[in-house]
Amino acid sequence: MAKLTIPEGTEPDQTVTHCLDCGYWLRGLPAQGRCPECGNPYDKFGGVWRSGKTLIMGKSVLLPRRCIKCNVPVDELTFKRKLSWHHPLVYLLLVLGCFFGGGILLYILVAYLVSKKAVIFVGLCPQHQGKRRVLMVVFGVLFAASILMIYTAFAVEHPGPALAAGVSLVGCIVMAFIAQSVTTKRIDDRFIWLRGVHPDFLAELPELPDSMRR
Ligand SMILES: [Zn+2]
Ligand SMILES: [Zn+2]
Repeated sequence: MAKLTIPEGTEPDQTVTHCLDCGYWLRGLPAQGRCPECGNPYDKFGGVWRSGKTLIMGKSVLLPRRCIKCNVPVDELTFKRKLSWHHPLVYLLLVLGCFFGGGILLYILVAYLVSKKAVIFVGLCPQHQGKRRVLMVVFGVLFAASILMIYTAFAVEHPGPALAAGVSLVGCIVMAFIAQSVTTKRIDDRFIWLRGVHPDFLAELPELPDSMRR
């Protein structure tokens, strides 16, 4: 599992290591203050909020050292997630593609160009790491079975195994969805919106300030 290298001089429960506005490294500065580079206020123990069932975090922010699935304390943020998000309207290109053709390729190209990306590190307790591993194994077995059944369908020239492969592939997608632990609701240039976080984890976060709501 990929591990996060936490910048040196970071306190155990510190979440903000770099200015959320300009990226300036806040090493050696007090817990709260103004960024020497851009002058905007910072809080080394902030940068993560809740709004309803959604978690909002700055892009460079370290999450609190707790399991995102059950809220027990963890020593390290060991689970690397590469997030990608685009506006839901982009999916319209897929629908258009069904009517006018070429839409899937156009969708892939546009989604690639307009998607916002982020990398975050999530804390998972040993129990939830184990659950994730089991899901990944089931995913692998289902995927291998699907390929085998498609091959069989061609070999025996009968659609039966191909239908079974279809069902198995749907199972794969469901497994992949469950195993991803948190889902991305939105990403912009500075912040990430996440769903699927445990309610107790959210309850310990401050409410999103009104000034940040859009
Ligand atoms: Zn700054
Ligand atoms: Zn857990």
